Amino acid sequence: MIQISSNCVGCGKCVSVCPFGALSLVNGKAVASSACTMCGACVSQCPVKALSLPQSTAAAKDLSAYKGVWVFVELLEEKDVLAPRSVSLELLTKGRELANELKEDLCAVVIGKSNAGYFAELASYGADKIYNVEGPGYADYNTEAYANAMITLINKYKPSIVLFPSTYVGRDLSPRISAEIFVGLTADCTGLSIKEGNLIQTRPAFGGNIMADIKCPNHRPQMATVRPNVMPKQVTAPGKTAQVINEPIALSPKASKVRIISKEIEQSQEVEKLDEAKIVISGGRGLKTAEQFEILNEIAAELGGAVGASRAAIDAGWKPKNHQVGQSGVTVKPKLYMACGISGAIQHTVGMQDSDIIIAINKDASAPIFNFCKYGIVGDVHQILPKVLEGIKKAKK
Ligand SMILES: Cc1cc2nc3c(=O)[nH]c(=O)nc-3n(C[C@H](O)[C@H](O)[C@H](O)COP(=O)(O)OP(=O)(O)OC[C@H]3O[C@@H](n4cnc5c(N)ncnc54)[C@H](O)[C@@H]3O)c2cc1C
Repeated sequence: MIQISSNCVGCGKCVSVCPFGALSLVNGKAVASSACTMCGACVSQCPVKALSLPQSTAAAKDLSAYKGVWVFVELLEEKDVLAPRSVSLELLTKGRELANELKEDLCAVVIGKSNAGYFAELASYGADKIYNVEGPGYADYNTEAYANAMITLINKYKPSIVLFPSTYVGRDLSPRISAEIFVGLTADCTGLSIKEGNLIQTRPAFGGNIMADIKCPNHRPQMATVRPNVMPKQVTAPGKTAQVINEPIALSPKASKVRIISKEIEQSQEVEKLDEAKIVISGGRGLKTAEQFEILNEIAAELGGAVGASRAAIDAGWKPKNHQVGQSGVTVKPKLYMACGISGAIQHTVGMQDSDIIIAINKDASAPIFNFCKYGIVGDVHQILPKVLEGIKKAKK
């Protein structure tokens, strides 16, 4: 929280500039609430220099000792087969570009029960080195075990950049590591580039109204998460072999705090797969009720796709939150995206606009979604969707 000294004269200038409404005047003095993010916007506005940011307790580091672009490879089980999750390969593709620019190695970090089967694929996506941590204790994701392994590796090898997927696992793991090693973490980046040796981490800010470029010039490693489907995936080095560095890291004793009692893996069409589905059928407020989503489920089932929803539909309780497509939901990039009764607000379209073919159904011909779609149908979803379903069933006969 921002520090306020006794010099405060209660002029209120800081109160009016705080973007988070975290400052107020109490008994003629500025007071900060827990909403303070320490953005520092108020510091320069104070005429009597009563406001200051707390000094970071992180030790200044010799930045030149930190080299290498690392990607944490998340493994995903699908139909009993465990393989690197698609987003990990997207991160390796981007990581290759960053490593070339920095003239550093691209390194994949893979933690699991037995990982040798993934090495060739990771190398073909450009990895120069693979840090391999394996053993029965790493068979399932465990926050403490994985964080301890990553921290041990980071402290030993000192990478300059570490990238994580913005998935349930990446979102759980990366902040644990950043807090332990006292560095920043930029979540949900939509762009990554290098400028003057620093990682420029681009992400939407202030409700998606601006794109913020974030850099960490004084600390290493620079850490970021990236959502699935935001960056392209490309085999950049077919046939390449990577140097494998086996690191036998003992399981953290804290790992035993969590025991997996049973595992249920949702198969195709399920939410976890929304970001990897080839076909996504989404519904919005125009569907009017939760029951109307049933026809979307049927269409998705016929086509082997997944069902998405706009935030308005989620907020109405028609679908669980993890079906949400958009800025504060999942980013999808399927071959076919069908938007049914969705207006096309920017916060929705940022999460689906890179789909190959977009079909929109909306009764309002001026709905913004029609600016994004390849095929637009102006009409009532309740009349059109049954015909779509009937047509698909006929075509499949
Ligand atoms: C910080 C922030 C983050 C957000 N994140 C997201 C996000 O991740 N994802 C997201 O989706 N939104 C997000 N939003 C909300 C977003 O701004 C919109 O409010 C939301 O996308 C609107 O959902 P909608 O299109 O279903 O509803 P509406 O905008 O109400 O549109 C409904 C559409 O249905 C059409 N319609 C109505 N009846 C019919 C009918 N019978 N047949 C055909 N069409 C019909 C209407 O013409 C209209 O175009 C966010 C907002 C903020 C501020």
